[in-house]
Amino acid sequence: MKTYYHPASILFAVLLVFSSFISDSDQNNNKKQAKNIILMIGDGMGVSQIYAGMTANHGHLNLERCENTGFIKTYSASHYITESAAGATAISTGKKTYNGACGVNTDTLPEKTILEIAEDNGLATGLISTSSITHATPASFIAHQKRRHMYEEIAEDFLKTDIDVFIGGGRKHFIKRSDGVDLVLKLKEKGYKVLFEMDSVIKVDSGKLAGLVADMHLPPYRNRKKSRRGDMLPDATQSAINILSKNKKGFFLMVEGSQIDWAGHANKSEYVIAEMLDFDRAIGKALDFAEKDGNTLVIITADHETGGMSINAGNFKEGTVDADFNTRSHTGVMVPVFAYGPGSELFSGIYENIDIFYKMMTTFGFESK
Ligand code: MG
Ligand code: ZN
Repeated sequence: MKTYYHPASILFAVLLVFSSFISDSDQNNNKKQAKNIILMIGDGMGVSQIYAGMTANHGHLNLERCENTGFIKTYSASHYITESAAGATAISTGKKTYNGACGVNTDTLPEKTILEIAEDNGLATGLISTSSITHATPASFIAHQKRRHMYEEIAEDFLKTDIDVFIGGGRKHFIKRSDGVDLVLKLKEKGYKVLFEMDSVIKVDSGKLAGLVADMHLPPYRNRKKSRRGDMLPDATQSAINILSKNKKGFFLMVEGSQIDWAGHANKSEYVIAEMLDFDRAIGKALDFAEKDGNTLVIITADHETGGMSINAGNFKEGTVDADFNTRSHTGVMVPVFAYGPGSELFSGIYENIDIFYKMMTTFGFESK
């Protein structure tokens, strides 16, 4: 059978080729490799924390589905051993800063974060954490404050952005404030659904959502039966993906497994394992979406290791782990990076924590400052 091309379709094809040529040169051939990025930070998650979780889970974790692995150097601008604010700010802004700095550089000046840059480019954005949403790690993606403990100021910074979804604790920094201002009311005026229970959060699949599901921090996962934490982290991750993936231009989402760090500070291996496995369930949700979507980069990493955790014995069959800790603080060791999806090959090797920012920029096709 002879194929016939209508002259108009030929003209259209020529125009299409021509226009793609023009837009390519406009962007300096800075091609977008992934439409969406899901960045997952296990606070205090070193190799031992991961391996303890893997052993307890009889030898496997969802994060093993990642194609590329690397290591980052975590030191901050002020200290050999970082804390979470400087660690997260390095990843969110591409600048090493001093311990305690939240989205600001060593001169205490605001640095634009990957979340804000994604917003500027029309992407949908989200933050999820099992701590207060105003706590160091999530705060360093959205706020610009000199000190991490300026929780009420950090809460105000959420209102200065167009973030689409945030789910975590920290309700009191929005409504029980020392200045008496009701930020929940202001969020509602900006068009957010503001919800205080996970039961209602999981029913939302579009629009702007503020899930302030605890007064301060969520309870530890180990007390599941006694507490309201339940499957908050995997459920919140799924809800955020459902909402954010409706944006045709793409999205940026940061999910934090906050309490792996606290378990390390407490030197409690059972707590570490419970938090690690809960975080891995959230990782599973992200990887399931990325697998189906084909246009999503998932990055799993940490800000630092906590506790100097070591594993002395274990049994895959029984899922038992005998672990020890050598400090109640953070340590200076490199932490791993796991990546899945388009652009994931950029994340293999050994590099600085700030390079995660630049690699994300490249993957999004954004020009670095
Ligand atoms: Mg944290
Ligand atoms: Zn810590």
